[in-house]
Amino acid sequence: MGFEYCRKCRKAYINGSSGYCLSCIEEMDESVKIIREYLEKHPGATVAEISKNTEVSKKDIVFLLRDDRLVLENADEGVITCDRCGKSIRSGRYCKECLSHMGTMFNSVSNELKAKQDELNGKNRGDKVNMRGNKMRISNRT
Ligand SMILES: [Zn+2]
Ligand SMILES: [Zn+2]
Repeated sequence: MGFEYCRKCRKAYINGSSGYCLSCIEEMDESVKIIREYLEKHPGATVAEISKNTEVSKKDIVFLLRDDRLVLENADEGVITCDRCGKSIRSGRYCKECLSHMGTMFNSVSNELKAKQDELNGKNRGDKVNMRGNKMRISNRT
């Protein structure tokens, strides 16, 4: 069993492959449920409206959007922006252009990292290595 750091609250938790601790997962599931219910009655609501009426904080909504747990038809302009070029996007972390650009970059980087990791794994299996591997997996997924 190893430790991972929750991507949301940054607390260490034991094992798990989701990237979040149990309490954050429960909290996010609950928020997503509330927001989806609200959106059924108010399709096209903006982040500000949702936050005001569901009491889910704006920060949390943005977090859910960036994590692809939630997609809004009508995300406010500029609520989430591409991490790379700053363009307004609807969900996730990067715009399509940057994703396709980075797709090629990531492939070569992750191959390099993997080679390094294999080397390190042979000698010591430290937490740092595990965290690195985990980060790469997450980046590759999006
Ligand atoms: Zn957490
Ligand atoms: Zn971009």
